[in-house]
Amino acid sequence: MIHADLHVHTVYSSDSLIQPKTLVDQLVAHSFIKVAAVTDHDSVRGCKPTVELASAYPDILIIPGVEISTQDGDMLILGTEELPPRPWTPEAMVDYAKSIGGVSIVAHPYREYGMGDLARNYKVDAIEVLNGGSTASMNNQAKELAKSMGLPGTAGSDAHRLSELFSVNTKIDASLSVEGVLKAIKRGSLSAQVTRG
Ligand SMILES: [Zn+2]
Repeated sequence: MIHADLHVHTVYSSDSLIQPKTLVDQLVAHSFIKVAAVTDHDSVRGCKPTVELASAYPDILIIPGVEISTQDGDMLILGTEELPPRPWTPEAMVDYAKSIGGVSIVAHPYREYGMGDLARNYKVDAIEVLNGGSTASMNNQAKELAKSMGLPGTAGSDAHRLSELFSVNTKIDASLSVEGVLKAIKRGSLSAQVTRG
């Protein structure tokens, strides 16, 4: 089992203060969260530097990704170090993720910039059911959405500063590899949980 924070912003998001090195250092130091996805707003510039820094440590893993602002709301794409081609419609993002062997996830559906019930219109791979920046009731609504759509539910802190990192995590039955994690998300071998201890 691995524990992953599947939604983290670095300084390459204009509203985040987390340096790639800080994220890597925190993964190295943490007792059980050893995987994080870099998902900056409409940018993949943070992926390469973070992946490179992490490569010095065999027991941690960075999943490159992006949080795309679609017209219906925010969507996470995991498994890409490149920006998807425009237009950034939800359908195109779902197709892009499929074409690269990545994963598409509806981010915080019931918070600001979330898709809400519109998520039902798209063939995404998963729903973010536990978002560190959402209230319990928003996350519960997201859980219901995932359940009714028959989709796996992921957890991500959505951290923009150090103190917010790893507040929640996704427990995943996978080996420590990007491909392994992405496949496990798609088949739903995971559970979302609040980080304790
Ligand atoms: Zn975010």
